[in-house]
Amino acid sequence: MKILIINSGSSSIKFQLMAMPSEVLICTGLVERIGYETATITYKTDVDTIKQTHNIANHKDGLGRVVDLLMDPEHGVISNTDEVEIVGHRVVHGGNSFSDTTFITPEVKDKVEEYIALAPLHNPGNLEGILVAEDIFPNAKQVVVFDTAFHQTIPEKAKKYAIPNELYEKYGIQVYGFHGTSHQYVSEKTNEYLKLASSKIITIHLGNGCSMTAVMDGKSIDHSLGFTPSNGLIMGSRSGDIDHGLIFHLVNNLDYTLDEVKTLVTNKSGMLGLTGHMDLRDIEAAAKSGNKDCILALEMNTYRIKKYIGSYVAAMNGLDAIVFTAGIGENSSLIRKMVCEDMDFFGIELNQAENELRTPGLREISMNSSKVKVLVVPTNEELEIAKQAYTLVN
Ligand code: AMP
Repeated sequence: MKILIINSGSSSIKFQLMAMPSEVLICTGLVERIGYETATITYKTDVDTIKQTHNIANHKDGLGRVVDLLMDPEHGVISNTDEVEIVGHRVVHGGNSFSDTTFITPEVKDKVEEYIALAPLHNPGNLEGILVAEDIFPNAKQVVVFDTAFHQTIPEKAKKYAIPNELYEKYGIQVYGFHGTSHQYVSEKTNEYLKLASSKIITIHLGNGCSMTAVMDGKSIDHSLGFTPSNGLIMGSRSGDIDHGLIFHLVNNLDYTLDEVKTLVTNKSGMLGLTGHMDLRDIEAAAKSGNKDCILALEMNTYRIKKYIGSYVAAMNGLDAIVFTAGIGENSSLIRKMVCEDMDFFGIELNQAENELRTPGLREISMNSSKVKVLVVPTNEELEIAKQAYTLVN
């Protein structure tokens, strides 16, 4: 059975065609800069990599061009659209309505639209992808996997903010959490590896966006992002945790508008604000050459992660494993080393030689004597979507 996984953003569509249940990747690709005359499509199979530039006006045009490539007589992998039996969509915000993967119905689309208010940067593009795919693959089963679904198990004591109850009950103001498919995928892989009857793990997703989840017996019980993907860890250009009193000070005393504050903490802060660089590779290189801002930013970043580890150990009353994933988590041995330094009180002992290796797949990088296992588990959100969609359909 062939499943097309679509991650549709405001101006991009990421796609993968996968055979299930064998989990064989047939092709993968990306449409970027939708709405521009110089939009690009990258399409990769085992044997081909094709890059094209087109004037792509909208998502329909973009997905249409993807289908042309999928069915291309020379480079294609299917002969007609009906060969795609399931289309699996990633949607960022499912509010309180979805704790599981679900078939797309008119009611589900209404909800995705309703939650645009909570995820204005993500849900519109996600919805557009659904509408276009329904049109192009009318006979496929359309399935949606929500980024927020995995966190629906977070108990009230962790998900409510200490503001008047009415705001929670009437307006759904609470922690929703994000990167759920990634945290779910790596925690499942970790549990398969640990083979424990009961497990307490912390998953650390460090990419452009960063978040941590406390996962007890496979369930998310606390998470560092909140109502929006803003708080918690220091990210590429987002500040993470700040005293919200700062916002009032900026507006009342320093003449910032609210929009300027939003841009400041979302697009100009984090590692970018501290160092002038967003890509961690540049920051690590500058720190190595002695750049003081970069050295301090790395210390601040990893100190914040350590504090969240501490709080999640307290929340779970124990810890079996910490798991690093996503672009930074999988690739930066320096960040992993700094996070694990002086954590022996918690039973975390890193094996520095293993940490420096770059072997693919799940790997254990802790000492044999370490009470807590330290793992690197490459995330695969598309595969998680494919697995969930396949399970739902079958
Ligand atoms: P993601 O959002 O998961 O794609 O992660 C993207 C981030 O991963 C980039 O901003 C880089 O900072 C980081 N990254 C990727 N490769 C490396 C590497 N080899 N060393 C350090 N950071 C990396």
